[in-house]
Amino acid sequence: MEASEDCCVKVAVHIRPLIGDEKAQGCKDCITVVTPKPQVQIGSRSFTFDHVYGSYGSPSSSMFEECVAPLVDGLFQGYNATVLAYGQTGSGKTYTMGTGYRDGGQTGVVPQVMNALFSKIETLKHEADFQLHVSFIEYLTNFFDAKILKEEVRDLLEPTYIGKSEISNGHAGKVTVHGKPPIQIRETSNGVITLAGLTEVGVSTLKEMASCLDQGSLSRATGSTNMNNQSSRSHAIFTITLEQIRRFSPVLSSDSSINEDISEDFLCAKLHLVDLAGSERAKRTGSDGVRFKEGVHINKGLLALGNVISALGDEKKRKEGMHVPYRDSKLTRLLQDSLGGNSRTVMIACISPADINAEETLNTLKYANRAR
Ligand code: ADP
Ligand code: MG
Repeated sequence: MEASEDCCVKVAVHIRPLIGDEKAQGCKDCITVVTPKPQVQIGSRSFTFDHVYGSYGSPSSSMFEECVAPLVDGLFQGYNATVLAYGQTGSGKTYTMGTGYRDGGQTGVVPQVMNALFSKIETLKHEADFQLHVSFIEYLTNFFDAKILKEEVRDLLEPTYIGKSEISNGHAGKVTVHGKPPIQIRETSNGVITLAGLTEVGVSTLKEMASCLDQGSLSRATGSTNMNNQSSRSHAIFTITLEQIRRFSPVLSSDSSINEDISEDFLCAKLHLVDLAGSERAKRTGSDGVRFKEGVHINKGLLALGNVISALGDEKKRKEGMHVPYRDSKLTRLLQDSLGGNSRTVMIACISPADINAEETLNTLKYANRAR
C-alpha cells in the first residue's frame, strides 16, 4: 500500500431544492451555481469545490458514481474510508445519506453503497471469500443532571434496544433515553477509542444489510429543536467492515519456488458513513437552555472534525508532518482509523437554497471550503 501521500479528502456540495415549508413562507433561492466550474455563489461570496450537485449543478444522481463508488472499490484493496454529510438541520444530510427510516431511499449514499458492495462481491466471489459486518451507532450528548453533560454512544443495532428508543424531556434540564444503557466508550493509553460490547452484525446478503439500516434508523433517538423535529443533535455512524480472504493459488516465480505473498491473503477495510449532527449555531436552536448547551457542545465536535479534515487536506502541511488534531474530540477519535493515513474521505456539505437559511449556508460553505 502507498504511504500517507495517498490520503485524500474530497469535498462536494449538495444543494437541495426549496421544500414545501420554505415555498409556503415565500423564500427565495439565494444560491447560484457557476457552471461549468463546481462553484457556488451566495451574495458576493463564491466558493469552488470538487463537485457541486443539485439545483443546476451536476445532477444528484451522479454523486454516488463520482464521489462514493471509488471509496467502495478502495475497500476491496484494503483502504478505509469515510463519507460525512455536514450541514444545518434540514439541509438534507439524512436524505443525502439515505439513513432516514423508510424514506424509501434507493438514492441515498448508504443504500447505493450496499448495492455496489454486493454486486462487486458477486463478481469477485470466485477469487475470494468475503465477510461483512455492520454496526450502527448514534453519538450524542445528554444531560443526566441539570449541569452534567455526558457524551453517549447508543448501539442502534443492540437487539433489545431496537424499537425502544424514545426520548422524554418532560422537564427542562433532563433528557432521559429509555432502553439499554449506552455503550461504554473506552480509551486505550494511546488515545484510541474502543466501544465495549458494540453489536457487529454479520451479514451475507443485501437484504440483511438493508434490514440493519432499517432497524437502526428506527431506533435512532430523536430530540426536537425549534428548527426540526428530527434528530439534529446526534451523529449517526453506519459502519461497514469488509474482510476478504483471497483464495490462494500458488504462483510460480522465475526460480520455480512458490511465491507466497501471505500479506495479500487477508484484507480488512472499514467504511464509516456518517450523518453528522446539525451544524447550526446554538442560537438557532434557541430555547430551553438544555438544547443551547448541547448545541455548543456539538459544535465543538464538528469544529474538531473540521480541523482534522483541514489538516489532512492540506498536502503541503501534511508533507511537513503537521500534527493532525484527532485528539481534540471523541468524534474524531472514533473516526480516526478511517480519516487520514491511507484512508479516503469525502465530505458532502448539504445546503438549503432558501434565503432565510443564508447565514447558516454561508457557514457551511466556509466550513467545507476549509476542508479542501
Ligand atoms: P437533515 O438530515 O439535514 O436535517 P433532511 O435530510 O431531513 O435534513 O432533509 C430535510 C427535508 O428536505 C426533508 O423533508 C427531505 O425530504 C427534504 N430534502 C432534503 N434533500 C432533498 C433533495 N435533494 N431533494 C428533495 N428533497 C430533499
Ligand atoms: Mg437528519
